[in-house]
Amino acid sequence: MNATEAVSICRKKLEKVTPLCTDCGRICGAACCRPMEAEETGMLLFPGEQALYEGKPEWKIQKAGQDLLIICTGECDREERPLSCRMFPLLPMEDQDSVRAYMDERARYVCPLVPSGVQGVRPEFRETIEECGRILLENPETRSFLHHLRLENEALRTLRKDWRVTHGRQQDQTDTEYRE
Ligand code: SF4
Ligand code: SF4
Repeated sequence: MNATEAVSICRKKLEKVTPLCTDCGRICGAACCRPMEAEETGMLLFPGEQALYEGKPEWKIQKAGQDLLIICTGECDREERPLSCRMFPLLPMEDQDSVRAYMDERARYVCPLVPSGVQGVRPEFRETIEECGRILLENPETRSFLHHLRLENEALRTLRKDWRVTHGRQQDQTDTEYRE
């Protein structure tokens, strides 16, 4: 299976399975889609995903270091949204011999689902994220990308904890739910 095929399967699996049974965007006004003021907002594309936007000039793609960002204006055709958006606010990560869903650290200050933790989202969504993680691990490029996301997630988490220690802040309530 090549990277584009792996990403396509995952996108399909996450087409209708969302974090809550209802539209979670109604809780927060779709906070994760809202672009920053006067800034273009981009979502990371998975390896091979760019091919799915060929011939679709309405989607602008640009390089960001080693990665590719798809630029969005805060509204899109749901059927075309990138895999990163479909997975948010979770990320699948290898955990010894299995794959588990973790909260994406980038969601912490955006998504109201974070305080309830991974167990707070719909089980079907969590399980589909884990299933997608297993699929993405089968291809070397998507496997390496997931590994890169994991390192970034861990680095962000460490930074946040260090900042709290330095500033004498108590553990914040959302810290207990990294996994549970
Ligand atoms: S920020 Fe969280 S709750 Fe809001 S739309 Fe995005 S995933 Fe759903
Ligand atoms: S691509 Fe679509 S789903 Fe993703 S952030 Fe933009 S508007 Fe939201």
